[in-house]
Amino acid sequence: SNVLSQQDPQVWAAIAAEQERQQDGLEMIASENYTSVAVMQAVGSVLTNKYAEGYPGRRYYGGCEHVDVIENLARDRAKQLFGAEHANVQPHSGSQANQAVYLSLINPGDTVLGLDLAHGGHLTHGMKLNLSGKLYNFHSYGVRQSDHRLDFDQVARLAREHKPKLIVAGASAYPREIPHGKFAEIAREVGAKLFVDMAHYAGLVAAGLHDNPVPVADFVTTTTHKTLRGPRAGLVLCKAEYAKEIDKNVFPGMQGGPLMHVIAGKAVCFGEALQPDFKAYGQAILDNAKTLAETLMAGGLSLVSGGTENHLMLVDVTTLGIGGKLATEVLGHCGITVNMNMIPFDTRKPMDPSGVRIGTPALTTRGMGTDEMKTIGGWILESLKNCGDASVHQRIRGEVASLCSQFPVPAKEALAAV
Ligand code: PLP
Repeated sequence: SNVLSQQDPQVWAAIAAEQERQQDGLEMIASENYTSVAVMQAVGSVLTNKYAEGYPGRRYYGGCEHVDVIENLARDRAKQLFGAEHANVQPHSGSQANQAVYLSLINPGDTVLGLDLAHGGHLTHGMKLNLSGKLYNFHSYGVRQSDHRLDFDQVARLAREHKPKLIVAGASAYPREIPHGKFAEIAREVGAKLFVDMAHYAGLVAAGLHDNPVPVADFVTTTTHKTLRGPRAGLVLCKAEYAKEIDKNVFPGMQGGPLMHVIAGKAVCFGEALQPDFKAYGQAILDNAKTLAETLMAGGLSLVSGGTENHLMLVDVTTLGIGGKLATEVLGHCGITVNMNMIPFDTRKPMDPSGVRIGTPALTTRGMGTDEMKTIGGWILESLKNCGDASVHQRIRGEVASLCSQFPVPAKEALAAV
């Protein structure tokens, strides 16, 4: 028994059920992961009680001597991890980190180039309903139809035509490594600044397994909860010359008081990512993704760009005569969690697109390897080829549960200890 279960059984029951869902199912949403118990302890700590508007040594509130230590640790570790001159660890989320960068570099009405949402871009890269799309004049570049790789001829053409003040690189659903230097070259040619949102692959960058945008970009942002495996939050990295500007635009520009418990979680996460074994984790994510992609393709599924070289893949399920919505539901019945996703040049709608996005970061954290990926790939193929057969789904659900019981999630230990 614990205090929460006694005091608020309704909330407790939902948390316990979610804990069970995370343990008993295969989490293959490319943007999710399992934090360590240490990260969860930091996020669940007394730091949630503290107001600390301002920055270390320059706060608007008293009693900040301990949270100053924590924010300085987070900043120093982030800089060390990515080789950056300056880090702002206060953004509550990736979206807010991005908004603070826009505030620092451009004015409402200014022209920006970003990756098309339907080609793998993020909402904050100019989607019409997002603040980015409402405030700024975004034009979208995309991938080539022939091979689904970023079309740098198009980026250069659009940059020369529209003369953007800013080019945004980075993606939420792009299965290939992004060569940031090519964006930097184009930005330099047209006099634009370069901002890279590495939210999805920051953990691979930290592990030295993906091109690091920090040396060539004016600003880099990331979420800390995807491949980086920290708490849900954002981070901005930049050159020293932008330090004052970004700090001012995160607070008071975008936010009020920082979430010190989450910043402590970020400090712990960056500390973990600086350890040698994080490189092995990154490599295992890549090996698992490659094996899963090969298994799915050998089984007849079509992958956007013909495979993957990062942590995720986009599967075009229309070759099976189904859409992404049904595929996601069927996999859900089997205990395999993914999300439906538009694929480049999709002729279907966002609420029932042609694809599903599948990632390996979370399962890799549980210790699963390439053997498990082959098994899981087999289950994905079998379930999608038998969409109407509930008995197949039920059998696979049982097999999934039995595999999961061999690979406990880190939270199991944490929750048991409460
Ligand atoms: N940037 C990219 C590339 C993302 O994929 C995401 C999250 O999906 C974000 C930013 C936004 O992060 P958040 O959900 O923390 O606002």
